[in-house]
Amino acid sequence: MMVRFVLIIFLMTIYCQNAFAATGHHNSIPTLLTDVTYFHEDSTTPLSFAQAEQHFRSGENQHPPQDFMSFGINKRATWIKLNVQNHTHVEQYRRLNAAQPWVDSLAIYLVNDQGVIQTWHSGDEQVADSHLLPGVGFVFDMKLPPGQSQIFIRGQSLDPLTLPIALLDAYQSRTLDAQIHVTSGILYGILLALVGMNLVLYLSIKQLDALFYSLYISCFIIVNISYNGYGFAWLYSNSLFIENNLTLIMMVFHGVSGLVFVSHFLRIHQHSPKLNLTLLIYSGLGILTMVTLISLNMHLWATKFAFKFLSLTTMLMILLGVLNLNKTKDTLYFLIAVMCSMLGLLITTFSVWGVIPYNYYSYNGAVFGVVFEATILAVIVAYRLKDFEQQRITAEYLSSYDPLMNLFNRRSFMAAGHQCIQQSNRTKKILSFVMMDIDHFKQINDTYGHHIGDLTLSHIAKLLKRHTRENDIIARWGGEEMVILLPDTNAEQALAYTEHLRATIAATPFRDEAQDIQITASFGIATRMNGESLETLYQLADKRLYQAKQQGRNRVEPQDRHLPITTQEQY
Ligand code: GH3
Ligand code: MG
Ligand code: MG
Repeated sequence: MMVRFVLIIFLMTIYCQNAFAATGHHNSIPTLLTDVTYFHEDSTTPLSFAQAEQHFRSGENQHPPQDFMSFGINKRATWIKLNVQNHTHVEQYRRLNAAQPWVDSLAIYLVNDQGVIQTWHSGDEQVADSHLLPGVGFVFDMKLPPGQSQIFIRGQSLDPLTLPIALLDAYQSRTLDAQIHVTSGILYGILLALVGMNLVLYLSIKQLDALFYSLYISCFIIVNISYNGYGFAWLYSNSLFIENNLTLIMMVFHGVSGLVFVSHFLRIHQHSPKLNLTLLIYSGLGILTMVTLISLNMHLWATKFAFKFLSLTTMLMILLGVLNLNKTKDTLYFLIAVMCSMLGLLITTFSVWGVIPYNYYSYNGAVFGVVFEATILAVIVAYRLKDFEQQRITAEYLSSYDPLMNLFNRRSFMAAGHQCIQQSNRTKKILSFVMMDIDHFKQINDTYGHHIGDLTLSHIAKLLKRHTRENDIIARWGGEEMVILLPDTNAEQALAYTEHLRATIAATPFRDEAQDIQITASFGIATRMNGESLETLYQLADKRLYQAKQQGRNRVEPQDRHLPITTQEQY
């Protein structure tokens, strides 16, 4: 499929649209294109208009077999003669469209029995002039005299291209231009929005998939903008060097950025570093070759190389997708996306061959294909980023939460606790630290089994969460020990709160299918009076907890300012 596309793209194809002369949305069109003939210049020395006219008279020229002609890519020019009949008695305005902003040189001669009426010269061999209408091509306004006249067109280009020729009246011109500009606006709009969205995604969550996607589509946009003449008309009208080379260079970069995207998207850099290195070398060689050809001014070779490189690279992307089909789950969608752009290329190719009708939409099939490709790719990149975000959230959760009790673990308690202490330093507000331990928990395990022990722990965790305020920090310190940090809470309030918690736990047995399991817990409280550290508060509370256990359990041991904190007893 791709190889045939390369073949056709190297042809200089000239379309002459006959349809323009026949019908229209408005009243009868009084001017008809009656005949099209063409010939090919033999030598590389350009023919003068007089010589060309002589050639047409000699009859050695041909009528196009269909409404298009294809010539190989070379330096020689093609002459086309359009016979036009104006059936009215007044001049008729017409616009000759040579719908190809890439053609090197165009010479147009409007002639009748009296001789040459007007001539025009344009093309991208010279600085951009007013004939270049970006998105449309080169346009020439003319007034066709009454009766018979001829339009001679000499077109020459080294670049592979299609040159659709049409003769339009003012209404047709306006309609066509509006159609082209609105469609281009929509296409570029979609592509730019996708690039922008992925750049923002990259900047916010730093996933390279999004960055490489943006690069890949941006390169395509630049190729397209330069190919369609927007760049030449608006950005670098005076730089023939940029006009002649930007499209070719960007085609290579489009291919390379596509490979970089694919290689990262399919995780080739992770599971086959050797293949990844080969792709890097291939890309590097591609860029190097292009730069060399351009610096040696080998334009024809550069053109051939750009098309071959891009075709080969697209095939490589598909091959990599097929080879990695079972490695990542979204490869299938990736393949569908790339196939969309291949299908678009095929439609363009068929329209240039005349297999399907040639029109703006079929000729731009490749562009529509890329828009579909870009959209599908953006959706799968977005899904992948969503997965990453989910994984990150899960990992963060796993590293900061205790999975059994669904409470903070010790590490995140310390982090949150230190913040809380700093805040209390700033606001000069008192805070209290509660340490709790379930009474005789070993017995629960021994009597009902470890599983019921686990369920009891999560029952307690739920009770704790239900009976704490939003700002309180609860954590599982380890085993069946929990800690609670109560910001903005003095000793008295802490005692009342903890007493309430103790009573609630004692009054809320864990209801198993078979029986109610009575649970009690003991508590120690430390209130921050003199700027104690979190660690000191922990030691103080732990000491009170020990006392509570000693005094018979199911008790709260409040702050006692006279208790020394240096002795570390074990229980
Ligand atoms: P005390 O009233 O003195 O605190 O008695 P206790 O039995 O609660 O004290 P001890 O610290 O000796 O026993 C704690 C028990 O908690 C020991 C351990 O098997 C159990 N345990 C710790 N973590 C878990 C857990 O995640 N699940 C279950 N089922 N048991 C646990
Ligand atoms: Mg215990
Ligand atoms: Mg214990």
